Amino acid sequence: MKKLVCAGEILVEIMAERIGQSFLAPGPLVGPFPSGAPAIFIDQAARLGQPAGLIAAVGDDDFGHLNIERLRADGADISAIKVHRGAATGTAFVTYEADGSRHFVYNIKQSAAGLIEIGAEARALLAGADHFHVMGTSLFSPEVIEVARNGIEAVKARGGTVSFDPNIRKEMLDLPGMRDALHFVLSKTDVFLPSGPELFIFAKATDEESAVREMLGRGISTVVVKKGADGAVHYDQTGRTASPGFAVDEIDPTGAGDCFAAAFVSFWLRGATAEKALSIANGCGALAVTKKGPMEGIASLAAVEAFIKTAKTGAP
Ligand code: ATP
Repeated sequence: MKKLVCAGEILVEIMAERIGQSFLAPGPLVGPFPSGAPAIFIDQAARLGQPAGLIAAVGDDDFGHLNIERLRADGADISAIKVHRGAATGTAFVTYEADGSRHFVYNIKQSAAGLIEIGAEARALLAGADHFHVMGTSLFSPEVIEVARNGIEAVKARGGTVSFDPNIRKEMLDLPGMRDALHFVLSKTDVFLPSGPELFIFAKATDEESAVREMLGRGISTVVVKKGADGAVHYDQTGRTASPGFAVDEIDPTGAGDCFAAAFVSFWLRGATAEKALSIANGCGALAVTKKGPMEGIASLAAVEAFIKTAKTGAP
């Protein structure tokens, strides 16, 4: 089976227990939960039985080891996760508002995550990789952008493929080197996975079909537009396939996009039909939101297949 690799931040997420609770006063917290978009992506792929490895850096602390142990237990290749003495693993503290919005207090850039590099272990992992997945959120410094460039080039040199989940806010476009980095990543992308509004950051057109056609015209072979509870739409040169979301009670939306992307890319690499890849991906995305904690809803292949058999589509 094809091996996929991703690079980027590992962190823990600690959340306010109650909806509407603020960090401006002491209050009960839940966590730490293992997190970091690349870690969520790799963990979900591994749980589906896809060979998958992560290039990352953590501190030699409980938060770092919590993540490494979860990834190891779930079958991911952790050989290129470097443990740094004297650096701390990143943290994200999260509060939830009644309208479903989230507020984050991050410590990532100054954490061990910023020490990511292509060392001997990462080179060895990339030497056996068939696919590299890039996330916009992981391109937060010139160092991590360089790691992504190295990953893409190593995998492409072996005849492999690249997927890109932009997961980017407009303000991030003005970070140093970001526009060049995005241009480079898009020029190498085979599978592009924007959520609805992100598509229009990259395309000039103002309607979805035309924007997707623009992206397909740039050498991208497959575009999948994620639509939250409504599921997702797949486009390639042969046409359009829409797949509705599964009805679940949403407890915590963090990680749904990464679980969806991991499942879609894993089944795309297996040569599955658009319908099959979308169904598994929508199943993984739906299950991801049913638990508190970004990785707690990650399902095995058997669990997601069982869920899909009985789940209803559409709003709960
Ligand atoms: P995030 O950045 O919050 O991880 P995203 O914006 O990249 O997510 P979404 O479109 O929110 O991506 O979610 C990805 C997929 O997860 C959806 O296409 C859908 O399959 C599933 N999903 C997300 N939210 C729900 C929900 N409330 N109910 C059912 N499925 C959901």
